[in-house]
Amino acid sequence: MTIPAEPFRYEMLIDGRWAEARDGGRLTRESPAHGVLVGDYPLAGEADTDAAVAAARRAFEAGPWPRMSGAERSRLLLRVAEGIRAAAEELALVEVLESGKPISQARGEMAGAADLWAYAAALARTLHGDSYSTLGDDMLGLTLREPVGVVAMITPWNFPLLIISQKLPFALAAGCTAVVKPSELTPGTTLRLGRILQEAGLPDGVVNIVTGYGSPVGARLAAHPDVDMISFTGSTGVGRAVVAASAGNLKKVSLELGGKNPQIVFADADLEAALDAVVFGVAFNQGECCNSGSRLLVQRPIAEEFAAAVAERARAVPVGDPLDPATKVGAIVNQQQLDKILGYVASARDEGARLRAGGGRLASERGRFVEPTVFDYVTPAMAIAQEEIFGPVLAVLSFDTPEEAVALANGTLYGLSAGVWTRDLDTAMTLARGIRAGTVWVNTFMDGYPELSFGGYRESGLGRELGRFAVEEFTEQKTVQIHRGPRTSWWLPRA
Ligand code: NDP
Repeated sequence: MTIPAEPFRYEMLIDGRWAEARDGGRLTRESPAHGVLVGDYPLAGEADTDAAVAAARRAFEAGPWPRMSGAERSRLLLRVAEGIRAAAEELALVEVLESGKPISQARGEMAGAADLWAYAAALARTLHGDSYSTLGDDMLGLTLREPVGVVAMITPWNFPLLIISQKLPFALAAGCTAVVKPSELTPGTTLRLGRILQEAGLPDGVVNIVTGYGSPVGARLAAHPDVDMISFTGSTGVGRAVVAASAGNLKKVSLELGGKNPQIVFADADLEAALDAVVFGVAFNQGECCNSGSRLLVQRPIAEEFAAAVAERARAVPVGDPLDPATKVGAIVNQQQLDKILGYVASARDEGARLRAGGGRLASERGRFVEPTVFDYVTPAMAIAQEEIFGPVLAVLSFDTPEEAVALANGTLYGLSAGVWTRDLDTAMTLARGIRAGTVWVNTFMDGYPELSFGGYRESGLGRELGRFAVEEFTEQKTVQIHRGPRTSWWLPRA
């Protein structure tokens, strides 16, 4: 695969038409690995955002989409899944050029995204309410599931197409309409998804895509009185701002936020398997991953030896050009993120942690590459043990008992996910039950299935995506009570 000679040029999608920003503003993107321009997009402002919300509102109030049968919506979502599969190579290339992630991984993500659309298509036909025939002979109670309305979706740069595919098909399956704001760093695949939606036959205005900065576009969506729900994936800090902005009209809010996820390795584990998963867990997607296993908690008797083995493996990870199919770790998304990672490396040294591997930029490459980095002798109070770094930096801590491991695992403000490595069922259950996180993997790490719900405890989020209730997240429940026959209970005495 090669870098195109000219950057891809895009328009944004509002009310079924491809449009420039009203004031003609544009936004460009350089490949973080290659330093060349790869994308050129409209820079939306508040007026563009308002136009997108108005289109979604019209499509919801008067358009065909919310009124179609589940079967009709399902057929369209399946066509989108096929469209993603057909365009997978091109989508993967765009994702690599904008984000810096390795091509082999991007290809897997495109397959995963298509599968999410196919799963949502299946769910579209299963959405249903309940009936209650036990309320008395003359009363029937019904609960209906109705689409929540206009949903604004704000997504980050680390898994652009995959994350929008965890939201949009499920909202569409429910009959909602949407305004999507991808990260300004990686809008390309979301805009291309807009084309695929049109080719699949989605009515105008059902999905609108606006490209621009968090402020004003994201902030306007979060505060907009005509938006009924906001589905946000990003940092905990911005998540808080979204909640505050959404208070005006008391929107429904769903948040997928950051993590400081532990992998917990007991002495009795399959250590070879754990070793591979620990290095994968922290270095996957350059560590720019909400699920990054950025803390390793290792049982004391094996701590020295295991940390040394992790460091050795980390040094062997192929880092470099993300277009090379052999690359496992690509480039860091931008200078700000690179500075943040290197700042945490410096603070770990200052606080007395021991550097076992990496710790700097990759000297052999021009782009923004960071060596997979391992620190041991980390204590729970250190910044690298508490804060989300979003880079390939592992903090190693140790423990003696399962109870101590649970306390350490729960010792941050986050609660997104955790990995547990042991051959003992009792230990596995103690950890799986004791850890306050949305996902616990046992003897595996970071697998994902559309069938299984995903989301965070505490400051890692609010609500759940995926799983069989994923479509219900985008609905309101309405109660209908139907009385049969003559009125039986009179409020006023009858004349
Ligand atoms: P940010 O929170 O910085 O940005 C996320 C999105 O919010 C972007 O589209 C951004 O726009 C937008 N935004 C920024 N400011 C505002 C605002 N005031 N109001 C509304 N929207 C705004 O996250 P990153 O893009 O840096 O992504 C990394 C973060 O995402 C990490 O913390 C990571 O853990 C989290 N994440 C969580 C996942 C989960 O499922 N739990 C999955 C993946 C990532 P723009 O950047 O264009 O200005």
